[in-house]
Amino acid sequence: MADSRRRLAGQLALVYSIVFLVTLGSFSWLVARSASQSLTDQIVESMGEAASLVRSQLVDARDPHELASISGAQLGARVTIIDRDGTVVADSQADPASMENHADRPEISDALQGLTGAEARFSETLGVEQIYIAVPSDDGPIVRISKSRGQIDSRVAAIVRTIWALAIPVGFLGLFGVWLAGRRLARPITELTDVASRVAAGDLEPGVRRSRILELDRLGVAIGGTAGRLGRQIVEVEEQRTTLSTTLANLPQGVVLVEADDSISVVNTRAVDLVGYRAARLANLVPAALQRSVTNAREAGTASTIEVEIGRPPRTVSVFTTRIDDMTPRVLMVLVDVTDQRRVEAMRRNFVGDASHELKTPIAGVIASLEAMRLALGQDDQRMEQFASQAEHSARRLAAIVEDLLDLSRLESSDRKTNDVQLHEVIESEVNAARSGETAHGLQIITSVEPIVVRGDATELAMAVRNLLDNAINYSPDGASILVTVRKEDDDAVVEVCDTGPGIPTRHLGRVFERFYRVDSARSRRRGGTGLGLSLVRHVTDRHGGTVEVESQLGVGSTFTMRLPL
Ligand code: ADP
Repeated sequence: MADSRRRLAGQLALVYSIVFLVTLGSFSWLVARSASQSLTDQIVESMGEAASLVRSQLVDARDPHELASISGAQLGARVTIIDRDGTVVADSQADPASMENHADRPEISDALQGLTGAEARFSETLGVEQIYIAVPSDDGPIVRISKSRGQIDSRVAAIVRTIWALAIPVGFLGLFGVWLAGRRLARPITELTDVASRVAAGDLEPGVRRSRILELDRLGVAIGGTAGRLGRQIVEVEEQRTTLSTTLANLPQGVVLVEADDSISVVNTRAVDLVGYRAARLANLVPAALQRSVTNAREAGTASTIEVEIGRPPRTVSVFTTRIDDMTPRVLMVLVDVTDQRRVEAMRRNFVGDASHELKTPIAGVIASLEAMRLALGQDDQRMEQFASQAEHSARRLAAIVEDLLDLSRLESSDRKTNDVQLHEVIESEVNAARSGETAHGLQIITSVEPIVVRGDATELAMAVRNLLDNAINYSPDGASILVTVRKEDDDAVVEVCDTGPGIPTRHLGRVFERFYRVDSARSRRRGGTGLGLSLVRHVTDRHGGTVEVESQLGVGSTFTMRLPL
C-alpha cells in the first residue's frame, strides 16, 4: 500500500493551496459577476438614452436607413428601427429585408407596451451575444439599440486577470510562509519524536529541549517528567529485584518456583547446587518425585514435605512444596540439605549402640571378676587377688571409656572458647605431664617447638595433643623415642607427633579417626585404649577449622599431623 503520509510542511502547503485557490476562485467569480452586472447596467442606461435620442431624431429624418447607419456608427452600436407591427424598417448592420418580423422579441414587445425593453441574447442575425435595448414611443416606430456583450466580457476578463495577477504572487508568498512555518513547527515536533523514541528505547534521561511553542513545550515537559518518573520507578524495581535476588542467592535453602506452564522462573544458587544443574522446566527436575510433589501441590492445593536423594554423591534433601497462587497455580519448592543432620542422627543412633557395646565388655568383666571373687572368698587368697586385679582393670577401662565419652560429650555440647592460645606452651605442658606419667616406660620424648599463637580453646587443644601423645607412648616399644614438633608452615600451625611404634596397616589408615575404631581390638584393650582417642583429636581439629592426618609404615612408625589455621 502506498504511503499516503506527508510531512507537516507539505500537508500545510497543500491545505493552504486548496484554500487559497478556492477563495481566489470564489472571489474572482463574485467580482466578475458584479462587474459584469454593473457594466451591463451602465451600457443599458447609456444605450437607453441613445435610443431615445435616435427616436427623437426619427420624427424629422427623411431616411430611416441613413439615420440608423449614421447613429449606429456614432454610437458604435447596432441601431434597428422597427415598425409597431414588428417589421424591421432599417438596420445599421443588416439588410432589413432579410430580417424576420421582430414583434415577438421580448424587448420589442416590452417597448410596444410602453416599457423600456432590455434583453441579452444570442443574435441569429449577427451570430454573437448581444444586449438589446428598445425604447417605447407613443405611436411611431420603435428604436432598438444593441451592442455586443463581448466588450463587457473582455473587460470583466481583464479585471479577473488583474486580480489573479496580483493574487498569485501573494499566494506564492503565503505558500512559502506556510511552508516555512510548517518546517519551523515540524522541527520541535521531530525533536520531541526523537525524545519519545529515545525514551521508548530505554534512555530515561533524554534531555528535553524547551520549545517556544507553548503546547509543544508542555508536551516536552510531560514526556521529560514521564521519563524521569519511569526512570525512578525502574531504579526502584531494579533495587528491589537485586535485593530479592541477593537474598535468594544467599539463602541456605534452595528455592524453585514452578509456573503454571511448568516453566521454572526462579531457581537460586543453592537449588542449582543441590539439583546439580539449572533446570528450565519441571520435566528437567530429577528425581521424578520432585515433579510428582509439584503436581500434587498444584492439584490438591496442600503443602507437603518429602525427602529425596539427589545428585552424586547422593545428598538427602527435604523438599517442601506448596501452591502459592490460586488463580494461576504456581508452585514454590524449598529444598533443604539434611544430609548432615540425617548422618548425625544415624551416627548418634550408632554411637549409642557402639558405646553400650563398649561398656558392656568391661562391665561384664567386673561382674565376672566379682562373681569369681565371691566364690573364692575365704578359700584362695591368691586367686582372690587375681580376680580383684581383673575387676580393677575392667573398672579402669570402664572409667577410661566414660572419661573419653564425657570428653566427647563436653566437646559436642559446649561452645568453643576462642582465645589466643600459646600452642607451644600447651604442648610443652602436655609433654612434661607425659614424661612424668607412669606409662612413659623408659621412653624419650624429644620436642622441637616454635613459639606459635593460634586462635582456639586451650583445653580442647591440650586434650587433642594428650591423646596423640598417649597413643604414641602406648604404641611405642620400651626405650624408644617420640618426636613432637611444633612449627609454622604457610598459614598453618603444624603439630607433629612421630613415633617408632608398630605402624598402622594402610587399609586402616582412613578409619582410625572413627569412633571406637581399633586396628587391633585386643591389643588396644590390653593397652587400656578406648577407641575414642583419635576421634576426639579429629573433633577438636575440626572445631578449630584444621585437619589431622596420619602417615604410617608398618614396623617403622606413625606420624600424626595436626594443622591449625593461624
Ligand atoms: P585407642 O584408644 O584404641 O588407642 P584411638 O582412637 O586413639 O583408640 O586409636 C584408634 C586406633 O588407631 C588404635 O586402636 C590403634 O590401632 C591405632 N593407633 C592409634 N595411634 C597409633 C600409633 N601411634 N601407632 C600405631 N597404631 C595407632
